[in-house]
Amino acid sequence: MTPLIVRRVAELREEIEAFRRRQPGKQEVGFVPTMGYLHEGHASLIRRSVSENGLTVLSIFVNPLQFGPNEDFERYPRDERRDVELAEASGADIVFIPSVEEMYPEPMRTKVTVSELTDRLCGASRPGHFDGVATVVSKLFHIVQPDRAYFGLKDAQQVAVIARMTRDLHIPVDIVPCPTVREADGLALSSRNVYLSPEERKQALVLSQSLAQVPGWIEDGMTEAELAVRIRGRIRSQPLADIDYVEIATYPDLTQPPAERPLRESEVPLLVALAVRFGKTRLIDNVLLFPSEVK
Ligand code: AMP
Repeated sequence: MTPLIVRRVAELREEIEAFRRRQPGKQEVGFVPTMGYLHEGHASLIRRSVSENGLTVLSIFVNPLQFGPNEDFERYPRDERRDVELAEASGADIVFIPSVEEMYPEPMRTKVTVSELTDRLCGASRPGHFDGVATVVSKLFHIVQPDRAYFGLKDAQQVAVIARMTRDLHIPVDIVPCPTVREADGLALSSRNVYLSPEERKQALVLSQSLAQVPGWIEDGMTEAELAVRIRGRIRSQPLADIDYVEIATYPDLTQPPAERPLRESEVPLLVALAVRFGKTRLIDNVLLFPSEVK
């Protein structure tokens, strides 16, 4: 069925309320927030929500608050018609597509900041980014009031930040982390992949390829510093790759693992995350490892 397209906050609230009234206590609402230019990764979140809820709301909003002054807000890819088609094919019931003015009718005087978790990784290289994310997601949570919200582990730090925010603020929503969807050759799907030239696209494979070697390197007994050096070396083998960061952190607290200890002795999950530029395009990828997988 064609999803209902809603552009106004008030209308969205009415539609969701009407849905809940129809079967009180039974109908659960799933929510998938996105910035559009949808791909199979987004589709996997929508399908998961459809399988677990009576109503699935997808939002498409390129949020200016989470882009830095020199980032790609203006040129971020947009294609509403194609997005609605993919939303329909994946089973979304409502697609919420607000304008910037609808989401921010007056200058924001309120900001949601999640401290510490946002100091490292993407938080360090994109100052203010996670304030923008946490602020818009908390606004969307208040508008949609979902029972569950679906986020991709492709953005593992974002999942950690949003999960912590909802706990800290007692927002009654279950955060559901979903696995990263990849191209057949391993490249993590991203709306930004369209920016890549054919040569950059080819060299970008080094990200998933080096991450695929991480479990073996950890099994070999590497410490955090040794692993970071090994990954950096592997990525530098591609001349177009310009490393932003390669970091290893505990998950979901995102603290530094003990420097001297082999990572395979970790008792907590480990996140190995990287951000690498190819030309103007900044790509991220990661692998999340649980203690049983690295021993
Ligand atoms: P974005 O539109 O890039 O803001 O992403 C919206 C949601 O889709 C976020 O929760 C992302 O983590 C998730 N997502 C993006 N790419 C992927 C992917 N390749 N696999 C799974 N989820 C993804």
